[in-house]
Amino acid sequence: SSPLYSVKTFEELRLKGEFLKGIYAMGFNRPSKIQEMALPMMLAYPPQNLIAQSQSGTGKTAAFVLAMLSRVNALELFPQCLCLAPTYELALQTGRVVERMGKFCVDVQVMYAIRGNQIPRGTDITKQIIIGTPGTVLDWCFKRKLIDLTKIRVFVLDEADVMIDTQGFSDQSIRIQRALPSECQMLLFSATFEDSVWKFAERIIPDPNVIKLRKEELTLNNIRQYYVLCGNRKDKYQALCNIYGGITIGQAIIFCQVRLCRAQTSLQLETRRNAKWLTVEMMQDGHQVSLLSGELTVDQRASIIQRFRDGKEKVLITTNVCARGIDVKQVTIVVNFDLPVNQSEEPDYETYLHRIGRTGRFGKKGLAFNMIEVDKLSLLMKIQDHFNSNIKQLDPEDMDEIEK
Ligand code: ADP
Ligand code: MG
Repeated sequence: SSPLYSVKTFEELRLKGEFLKGIYAMGFNRPSKIQEMALPMMLAYPPQNLIAQSQSGTGKTAAFVLAMLSRVNALELFPQCLCLAPTYELALQTGRVVERMGKFCVDVQVMYAIRGNQIPRGTDITKQIIIGTPGTVLDWCFKRKLIDLTKIRVFVLDEADVMIDTQGFSDQSIRIQRALPSECQMLLFSATFEDSVWKFAERIIPDPNVIKLRKEELTLNNIRQYYVLCGNRKDKYQALCNIYGGITIGQAIIFCQVRLCRAQTSLQLETRRNAKWLTVEMMQDGHQVSLLSGELTVDQRASIIQRFRDGKEKVLITTNVCARGIDVKQVTIVVNFDLPVNQSEEPDYETYLHRIGRTGRFGKKGLAFNMIEVDKLSLLMKIQDHFNSNIKQLDPEDMDEIEK
């Protein structure tokens, strides 16, 4: 059945009136399936933990945001809910959802614990909901002692699989989790949980409720996927230029990655260099594109993602920083200029799903193009098999069809 199909209304989920107003002001009519399933579990008394999986673009954010909002006591002026996200852009985006859904409870406020948000020493944080990235939250909790974790009631990990499994993030997230009171409710959400990560999640989260998809339920059905076979990197570039006209009908995100296997840090540097190279090439050929990568300052990052959201930029070239969570309605096309691979040069299935999941959101249709060097075709075929989906070689007629 469709992940958007639900049998209940928001009223039946027994949400407070002011949240219903917020939800309807956002244009939502009915809950999605994950919202319908997760909300009663999350709002049950006594509070229960939850590990929840649902396809990308099915409204996980609203589910956990409503859970946080429902547990806030607006009269108490200290942090009560904490939500961690893997990137600056995603933390910003999620915070905006909290602000919009909570618009009719004026006393509920959001604090962004993200890089660049300067808080003077000794400030008392009176806002009830903290949204942040693990590094900054850790800093604010333990080093600067700005956030008191002992009164947190709800702890959310969005993109939970990377938050508990990726080097760097997992140490930070788990350190934060350990400092929470034992009765704190823990909520983990993602579209993907590799088996080993799911097991790990169940180990670190006490007595969780679970909402888990069967492997065949995690489909990419509403995204038409194509590949263009290329001889080398230059060919890939040419192929991208050839479809530029087609991809700029809507908005597009182009992902770059390195092919080389190196230590993680230099791998990131290489990826950024690639993204930059592609941006410069495209610009020199007169194509308007913008670049968002982790090496920019946070002000630059905020302004670029905002311009993209506003439709002022149509094509965003990026690295895996934008692979997860980013929700921009007009994005109809995702291009993998490079396939996502892991350190052993195997396909990174989860990242593939998240990247192309930037399109085809909430029942919309999307398109994905993969630029494939001949020797990478076998990797793509593994991805196709893994998701039991059909990735078709692009022929010019398809492109004509798309441009119409
Ligand atoms: P996920 O985190 O599951 O990938 P998001 O929470 O980002 O998905 O939601 C995807 C899109 O669907 C967003 O644009 C959001 O505003 C929209 N959305 C979420 N829930 C509903 C709903 N019940 N009705 C209509 N649109 C919704
Ligand atoms: Mg999400």
